[in-house]
Amino acid sequence: MKYLKQLKLNQLKNKTCLLRVDLNIKSPEKDAFRLRAVLPTIKFLIKNKAKIIILSHRGRPSKALSIKHQASSYTLKPFAKIISLLLRKPVHFMDFKKGFNASEISDTITRDSILLLENLRFFPEEEKNNRQFAKKLASLGDIFINDAFAVSHRENASVAAITQFLPSYAGLLLEKEIGNLDAVMKKSKKPLVVVLGGAKVSDKIGLINNFFKKADCFLIGGAMANTFFASQGLPVGESLYEPKSFSFVANLLTSDVNRLILPKDIVIYQGKILDIGPETVRKYNEIIKKAKTIIWNGPMGMFEDKRFSKGTAGIAAVIFKNKKAKIIIGGGETIASLKLTTYNLQLTTKNRNLFLSTGGGAMLEYLAGKKLPGIKLLKNNR
Ligand code: ADP
Ligand code: MG
Repeated sequence: MKYLKQLKLNQLKNKTCLLRVDLNIKSPEKDAFRLRAVLPTIKFLIKNKAKIIILSHRGRPSKALSIKHQASSYTLKPFAKIISLLLRKPVHFMDFKKGFNASEISDTITRDSILLLENLRFFPEEEKNNRQFAKKLASLGDIFINDAFAVSHRENASVAAITQFLPSYAGLLLEKEIGNLDAVMKKSKKPLVVVLGGAKVSDKIGLINNFFKKADCFLIGGAMANTFFASQGLPVGESLYEPKSFSFVANLLTSDVNRLILPKDIVIYQGKILDIGPETVRKYNEIIKKAKTIIWNGPMGMFEDKRFSKGTAGIAAVIFKNKKAKIIIGGGETIASLKLTTYNLQLTTKNRNLFLSTGGGAMLEYLAGKKLPGIKLLKNNR
């Protein structure tokens, strides 16, 4: 794989770099984590005097609507201003209201050095990994850089097909993601503790399978635990659970019960299990304290409601307190839940042992041992 970091000033100066990032952020004012994560790459390119066309998507725009009629929650426009403020440099924005105008884009990038293009998913070709569309995108620049780990499991034109047309590199963030995830997959120190919560078991089957032998234990929480309870015939009332994962869960429980640790007590409200209880937090803490490697995905309860956030906040606090362990935390909601702690995320990310992944689905697939198309294609790129 070719890494952006290896390129020098003379290889980047005045070159137009197509930089694919993940700005799939609901509320940029509140949640700048993914945005900040790509700033080092942008700064690296600025320092080396490259011209930058930033490519991204945001949400799933309606296929039935024309670009003009898409909801404002899908536009990338507000990000131009935010990136500009963070970099203290002008960032030009270009929409696609009059379609994809390659010559206008090229003209703009000769004048301005940073250009953000509108949501690429306004074109159905993007998600279809359309070759012609990728070629059109590629024609705008000299170099392609993938810094969008969180989308690298998707075969989308600006992640996958585009690599056929340009010399393609892994950006600084992608490199960091791969390095950190490989570290826990290949040579993790024991005890290795995997903390899993969130909504669904089905999302995590690959990860559980891949780590079942490697991990010393799995601490289960969130609605995921409800599926374990329900599959054992325990009453879960109106709680969220996933019947389609019953057979997977039952198999796990018969193969090695000791590795799977389920909540001892729970918080019930209006017939629903919405959080893990204090006894469980204590028990999980004891295990987390001794861990040398920790992987965490999925909140322990419906943390968005303060009444059901104690489990998640309690687990987050002990994970942060463990200074000896190599820690990987990922998942959109899981990262959002870290706001519950008093921990300063900015400082946290400087701690080399702690890595906050920008990937949700991509992280789960990577940790499941799957080859992500966006990364595989970079490796094959000549
Ligand atoms: P991530 O985005 O970090 O990968 P998930 O998408 O798997 O996490 O799950 C997060 C969601 O799961 C949160 O919105 C949270 O409210 C919900 N959740 C967790 N526990 C429960 C529960 N017991 N009942 C209902 N929802 C829950
Ligand atoms: Mg989620």
